[in-house]
Amino acid sequence: MGSVQIVTTILAAAITAVAVWLAVRAVMKMLAVIRQGQPAPERFTDRGARTKAMLVETVGHTRMLKWSVVGAAHWFVMVGFIVLSLLVLEAYFEVVSPTGGLPLIGGLTIYGLATELIAILGTVGILVLIAIRVRNRPTRPGGRSRFTGSTMWQGYFVEGVVLSVLIMGFVIRGFKVATDHFEYPVWATPVSHAVGALLPASPAGVSIAALVKIAISMTWLIVIALNVTMGVAWHRFLAFPNIFFKRDPRKRAGSGLGALRPMTSQGKPLDFEEADPESDQFGVAQVEQFTWKGLLDFSTCTECGRCQSQCPAWNTGKPLSPKLLVLSLRDHAYAKAPYLLAGGGKDLTGEEKATAAQLAHVDVLALAEADKPLIGTAEEGGVIDPDVLWSCTTCGACVEQCPVDIEHVDHIVDMRRYQVLIESSFPSEAGVMLRNLENKGNPWGAPQNTREDWTKGLDFEVPRVGEVDDFEYLFWVGCAGAFEDRAKKTTRAVATLLNEAGVSFAILGEGETCSGDPARRIGNEFVFQMLAQQNVETLNEAFEGREKAKRKIVATCPHCFNTLGNEYGQLGGEFEVVHHTQLLAHLVATGKLTPVQPVDGGVTYHDPCYLGRHNRVFAPPREVLGSAIGGGSGDGRGGAAVDSGAGRDSGLVEMPRNSERSFCCGAGGARMWMEERIGKRINVDRVEEAMSTGAKTVAVGCPFCSTMLNDGVNGKGAGEQVEVVDVASVLLRSVKPDTTAGQQAEPVAG
Ligand code: SF4
Ligand code: SF4
Repeated sequence: MGSVQIVTTILAAAITAVAVWLAVRAVMKMLAVIRQGQPAPERFTDRGARTKAMLVETVGHTRMLKWSVVGAAHWFVMVGFIVLSLLVLEAYFEVVSPTGGLPLIGGLTIYGLATELIAILGTVGILVLIAIRVRNRPTRPGGRSRFTGSTMWQGYFVEGVVLSVLIMGFVIRGFKVATDHFEYPVWATPVSHAVGALLPASPAGVSIAALVKIAISMTWLIVIALNVTMGVAWHRFLAFPNIFFKRDPRKRAGSGLGALRPMTSQGKPLDFEEADPESDQFGVAQVEQFTWKGLLDFSTCTECGRCQSQCPAWNTGKPLSPKLLVLSLRDHAYAKAPYLLAGGGKDLTGEEKATAAQLAHVDVLALAEADKPLIGTAEEGGVIDPDVLWSCTTCGACVEQCPVDIEHVDHIVDMRRYQVLIESSFPSEAGVMLRNLENKGNPWGAPQNTREDWTKGLDFEVPRVGEVDDFEYLFWVGCAGAFEDRAKKTTRAVATLLNEAGVSFAILGEGETCSGDPARRIGNEFVFQMLAQQNVETLNEAFEGREKAKRKIVATCPHCFNTLGNEYGQLGGEFEVVHHTQLLAHLVATGKLTPVQPVDGGVTYHDPCYLGRHNRVFAPPREVLGSAIGGGSGDGRGGAAVDSGAGRDSGLVEMPRNSERSFCCGAGGARMWMEERIGKRINVDRVEEAMSTGAKTVAVGCPFCSTMLNDGVNGKGAGEQVEVVDVASVLLRSVKPDTTAGQQAEPVAG
């Protein structure tokens, strides 16, 4: 070992020792913070599926590849990071000896070829990511950026380190080529040989370049160890467990979509017949009341801003950004941690748990952080502003987009639950809806005995459960479908089409109450459970003696569809629930319904969040519309009648934001019952997009979307030119052109 190698070896060992010590300390701290969260025993089940989901999502980059260029570039960088860690290890042999290399595999040509290839692709990948970050920087003139609010220096730092380490790899190899210590052929390592042609023969150069590479890598480790909230770096390690522990590993996309998590205390679902706010946790009032998975979610956020770029609230000028919400919770959790780790915290009655002696040595900043209310205005020093909390429509666009499976909607609803159930603090206008649900069983407060008024004037009998035993489908009408004038037309259209197709169905009539969706999404789990238990009992009775496959329900409202199909199982109600567009698509495909009259003027389709993103029903409504548009000749999504471009006079024209990336109408998450006072109205934004297609018909599959988009169209004074109408009504016009007019014009009471 020469003198240069003695110095490089000592320096490499010193910086590595410091970096590893700091990194171990940081990991211990991170684990200690995450362990402050509440238990979540369900996250340890189904380990085989969890392992598979983790491998598919990380190795396959299934979430990231939806953003194809970014996804591909990130994949090469990720693979580069993992494989080239071997090259950092190799650098430790090279600081000791310029001829050094990895034992066993280091001399193999295949190793030289693979690492060369990955280094080239990794370099291209990181340059693409840097270019994307620069092009989307929040400070660029006049631009909106998904990186707004992200800590930009951290992103540039991480990307700069990756690029530097890759370049140093070629420099080390170049020196080895120049000094004739390189065993790989030119064909396997062309870039290294090209770099070698530019460098002098210098054994010391090999060891010094290896030291620089180690120093850059260890500086990165030291910086991230000193910044435990640096998600852009830590996600390289945390993404694996975060995906492993996601809510439902068997779901291919958006595990946090569909059903909400039940309200839990100490890891057990709460039953309101026994729950006690003095001994059970009702929602989340303190950051440590999230589960440990919630705290892991916050720690894993990469600050990529994909969620923010899709959020309807953020895109219409509301203060809510799912990314900034997650970052606020993360920063608060870590700033409060010293207080919690010293034994601090409030019990369920609000009393301090720690003694004065325990808190005596806690940093004043941590104590100040602990005093902040989780929900509160800027003047109150709150971590999350109430306007942020109540702006969410629970549309799920953030969950859908998040590459590391963060479950934003669950966290938002958990915070709402405490505000509603314990503080009675929520937008006052929603109080009427909650009172109506409790007293009348529907959000409008309509008399229960008018639930069947929509059947009046139909030229066939709508049977009730109990009057017939052999019905195939229970037609769940829903509150909007029973009481809201526009939605009643959809209900009548669906009933008419089912009757036309010879489907045997029955309704519950006055036996039905609200599914509980608006109560659950606003955070009133008590009212949700009350309504849901009543409905589960009624439905179980209606289907008595039937196996699950024959407990079939068809619903026109995606919120009911989602709640009955995905959430009633939490309360003992197992049913096969379909949306009416799924059933209608099946009836058309099997020839039970035959569209004859083509629809004129162009049709565009708005995906309801709770049908599309939350439940992956994208194709059936398009199939129905495709068949109706062509008078039976269209084939729906991807078929002849569908056009992804804008401005066609006929055919289904897709909006730019459609399917998984559809833009919310603004009504979900109980926002239907709240005023929208901040920013641009979400429904207006969506209507402008729909109108930009040039279609005369905006088809919907949800009564809430129908209301919101109709209001938007009328607000723009375009009611004469553009019609917002349910998919079922479009089909009915095509199947029964003569009777449709009468059906639509039928006076409806209520
Ligand atoms: S659920 Fe929708 S509205 Fe709520 S934060 Fe996510 S993207 Fe925004
Ligand atoms: S998409 Fe996920 S990782 Fe990216 S900023 Fe949003 S929460 Fe963080």
